[in-house]
Amino acid sequence: MKFLADAMLGKLAEWLRILGYDTVSASDLSILDDDYLLDIAEDEGRILLTKDRGLHERARKEGVESVLVDGEDVEHQLAFLVREGYVELDDVPSLERCPRCNGVLKPVSKSEVRGLVPMGVYMSQDEFWACSNCGQIYWKGSHWKRMKEFVERVRAIIST
Ligand SMILES: [Zn+2]
Repeated sequence: MKFLADAMLGKLAEWLRILGYDTVSASDLSILDDDYLLDIAEDEGRILLTKDRGLHERARKEGVESVLVDGEDVEHQLAFLVREGYVELDDVPSLERCPRCNGVLKPVSKSEVRGLVPMGVYMSQDEFWACSNCGQIYWKGSHWKRMKEFVERVRAIIST
């Protein structure tokens, strides 16, 4: 499942990447033109995620798979996608995709990140991942805990 999130859903795009889904965000690409957006969805076989009913209906008319995303905040939007069967919540966070740029993450050895991460992090962590696109380095730090808490909130919404 590959996604293209419209400019209003940049935060959702980031979370889909955290969950391991290949997700392009219109706001990252500075795409403001709907024709171009629909072209990318079609050419790359991406499902368009949008909150714009007009764009959603146009996409469908042009044969582009599109989801009119329900939910005011990112937790509810993600819960909606899980309920609709587009996204699964297991295996979280996946450390497969860079939340910033959608690049593929690769495990890197501790020695490779020496000097590239804060010393406290270097001393306390043994596992690191690097983005093959932008070079950002990731580890299971405090943000890791926040991600898990976020997923718990989404699960709570789904179960109500
Ligand atoms: Zn990146």
